[in-house]
Amino acid sequence: MQHVACPGCGAQVEFKSPASVMAVCEYCKTTVLKDAESVQNLGKMAEVIEDYTPLQIGTSGVFEGRSFALVGRIQLRYPDGFWNEWYALFDDGQAGWLADASNQFTFTFEKPDIAPTVEFAQIRPGMTLALAGDTFTASDVRTARCTAGQGELPFKVGPGWEARVADFRCAARFLTLDFSEEGPVRAYVGRAVTLADLKAQLLRDAGEISDTAGALKGKVGQLACPACGSPVHYSPGMTSHFICPSCHASVDVSSSTAVVLAAGQKLAAAPFTLELGTSINVDGTSYTLLGALRRAEVQDPSSSWSEYLLYGAGRGFIWLVETSEGWQRTEVLNEWPAWPDAEHAQLQGRTYRRFASYAAQVTYALGAFNWRVAVGETAQVAEFRDGQVTLAVEATSEEMGWSRSRQLPLDQVRAWFGESVHAEIHEHPSYRRTARLILIGLMVVNAIPLLLATGSTFFFVIIAALAIYLPALILDKMD
Ligand SMILES: [Zn+2]
Ligand SMILES: [Zn+2]
Repeated sequence: MQHVACPGCGAQVEFKSPASVMAVCEYCKTTVLKDAESVQNLGKMAEVIEDYTPLQIGTSGVFEGRSFALVGRIQLRYPDGFWNEWYALFDDGQAGWLADASNQFTFTFEKPDIAPTVEFAQIRPGMTLALAGDTFTASDVRTARCTAGQGELPFKVGPGWEARVADFRCAARFLTLDFSEEGPVRAYVGRAVTLADLKAQLLRDAGEISDTAGALKGKVGQLACPACGSPVHYSPGMTSHFICPSCHASVDVSSSTAVVLAAGQKLAAAPFTLELGTSINVDGTSYTLLGALRRAEVQDPSSSWSEYLLYGAGRGFIWLVETSEGWQRTEVLNEWPAWPDAEHAQLQGRTYRRFASYAAQVTYALGAFNWRVAVGETAQVAEFRDGQVTLAVEATSEEMGWSRSRQLPLDQVRAWFGESVHAEIHEHPSYRRTARLILIGLMVVNAIPLLLATGSTFFFVIIAALAIYLPALILDKMD
């Protein structure tokens, strides 16, 4: 360990890692550059905005049998959100990066021997790349800005420093290609982890996260919409954007001032079953409903469904999805399924079969989200099913991700949100839909006679069909 006197305030600044080239003074935020000859003052570093992360400088853990501690941090922002990169120093002197993006953790290590020939501009989500013995698929491509730093870091960064990075995944393996600097691409290889895997110690607890998160101090949990003044529930530091429930303005809350990105659009109100701001207890953690989305298939706008984003301090985000088939609980996957062909997906020994592919569009959104949601935003979706479990892959021009949904009994939803949660969509499919099912049944029953016998059987089927379908059509119209 090396100590130097901060040129700004004289306090001792520590360099735990011989590989660190700069450190931010804990007391006065002066950026101190360590070089062989002298210690330089590079000016002040912006203070980090505390966010959802349970990690902090000093958090320790074990990765693949070796102990590490977090010694530095950079916060990065891009137009649609933000994430943290933590610089980890191992007992044996090696260093790595622990990234936290909306409580999805990955540990990576620089691999100087890997030299991919791909260019940043060529990379698109979904593109595959054979590297380090695996075929990786691009998940995110983004240009981000460093907004703040903390502790010690192995390269010189400052506010405004621009990172051009592409992330790739292959099952639990993770690859980041960093195009930020001139010269060859830097490759970082590692894998998805959980804090439990890492036996992480000295984490911030839920109370600490809630108390400190967010730049808009003193207004935790509530903010006046900068466009219309209505109170808005959101979680500072955990969500980066919200859509005002009153005026539908799109507001960026990821920096120290709330900024209106777009004025509210006039939209026909979408009825949401669950209310924003409701807190529920899921597996012993309190989750708050922050955002609600209405989405529909682009090809069939009548096929709409609702998605609700909930946040649990220290635990991250979960989604509840309400479709015409009932409720589902959805988690974003940090370990990707294998996708051997277009029809199948495999995860943890289970094979899922594709049953739907469509383009989905956001038709309505309210509340706070961990990315910038916009009405009209479209994603390509493919769904794979095995029994009650569904895997879905969604891709936009900037990112691709997998999620897993499990059916959720209506009783569970009612236990969380109250008995008033209606089951209309769930328990009473439309009359026409029921009629259609009966029709299909009739056709199947009659298929064999139809193939064998005279036209009269077919005639009766048609009459029977109309007798069922027409009244159903009228009943639906009357609804
Ligand atoms: Zn200082
Ligand atoms: Zn408003």
